Amino acid sequence: MLRKLLCLTLSLFFLQPALSLGRPPFVAAVEHHQFNQSAGHNHANAASPGKTRGRPLWPGSRFTEADRSRAVMRGLKFIYRTALQRKNFEEYGHDYIWCFYTLSAAVRDVNVRRTARRMGIERARFWRRAHRLVPADADAATISSLVYGNDAADSLGVYDAALKNQLKREVSRFKARDYLLFDPLVEPPPGDVPDECKRCGANNARGSTACFVCQTPLIMRTRYDVWYDALISTYVGKRSGITLGARYEDVLKWLPTLRPYRASPSDEGEEFHDTVYAITHIVYTLNNYSQYKLSPRLLPQEFEFLKANLKAAIDEDDADMLGEFMDSLRAFGLTTGDPSIRAGMEYYLSRQNRDGSWGDVNEKDIYMRYHPTWNAIAGLSEYAWQGEGLSFPEVKPLLEKWARAGVSDISRSSPGSDTSLCGNHRLLSNFMRYNLEAN
Ligand SMILES: [Zn+2]
Repeated sequence: MLRKLLCLTLSLFFLQPALSLGRPPFVAAVEHHQFNQSAGHNHANAASPGKTRGRPLWPGSRFTEADRSRAVMRGLKFIYRTALQRKNFEEYGHDYIWCFYTLSAAVRDVNVRRTARRMGIERARFWRRAHRLVPADADAATISSLVYGNDAADSLGVYDAALKNQLKREVSRFKARDYLLFDPLVEPPPGDVPDECKRCGANNARGSTACFVCQTPLIMRTRYDVWYDALISTYVGKRSGITLGARYEDVLKWLPTLRPYRASPSDEGEEFHDTVYAITHIVYTLNNYSQYKLSPRLLPQEFEFLKANLKAAIDEDDADMLGEFMDSLRAFGLTTGDPSIRAGMEYYLSRQNRDGSWGDVNEKDIYMRYHPTWNAIAGLSEYAWQGEGLSFPEVKPLLEKWARAGVSDISRSSPGSDTSLCGNHRLLSNFMRYNLEAN
């Protein structure tokens, strides 16, 4: 009976015209079906559903398993509703598909996995219909976005061999500096990449200090920010076999130059924020976005930094950053039994917006609406870990060498002395030595 209902629901779901503006009646209908289906699954899966769903998340918690399930499903529906809007999907389609894929692959809750997968497959098929060819005038950003979308759709089993082959040929139209903003073969992550102009939004060339359009002084992106963007691009390139300017290993190898992590939540500027996201994207790209656990021994400095700073995300009311912390700390072995993870879950369960999202409802950029919601779903979820592992096991020896170097550096530095300069120098020397050895 349940299987039949599921098939019927799926057919209704896929027979609907995929794109609509606003919030059309069929979305409400789909949600109604999904809601019923979720309830059905819960009854089918749980031995005593009432007991499980009414159970506190931990002894003494004011929230129950039912509260968590409801919050997560509401969040997922918010993301899907916004993904159905033409403008949003044109801009962030590749990222929406990746969001649905990663949740469908990593989250333990079967309802969430299935719902995210259905949403992801529907959006991936739509994306495929809209992206059959690489445009003749495509710039590097367009090709990157196509490579991302192609990989996300492939990950959900929605393939297009012709587009993939074309991307493999056309990707060489541009070089590392076009895709990654620096060439990791010849230079470390640079500090001279300007952020887009605060006044007019223009993108300016590396090294510019004033906007070429409006002459407004430019703010430089941090090295961390430039580096982790490149890490993501080359990760997607390595997954899909379509290299965006450089290899993942060529970007990862600069990690020791970003250590030790000295940023503090009270710092001016973006240094702390970018350090957090650089670290969480080391974790995401190494564990296929929460599919594998990681030994904290491989990344001891990253683990310590996250553990010491999670509270800052709650203090700063940063729904996006909090989920990043929780994802990585769970990968390193923290669980819902840990007080800091519980604090994060309490935060999310008491701060969900009426529309199912998390974060600032007045934010105009849809990315800053769905992304914190994605991270909140992640922060609230238990994961179906596939054991300890790495997305690319071949980088393990390098991580082990760096971890040993990091430990010996810490043990050599005398307490109380200012070692920032010589510490960096030492790390750079280690870095050069290890890369010579590795090559
Ligand atoms: Zn400007």
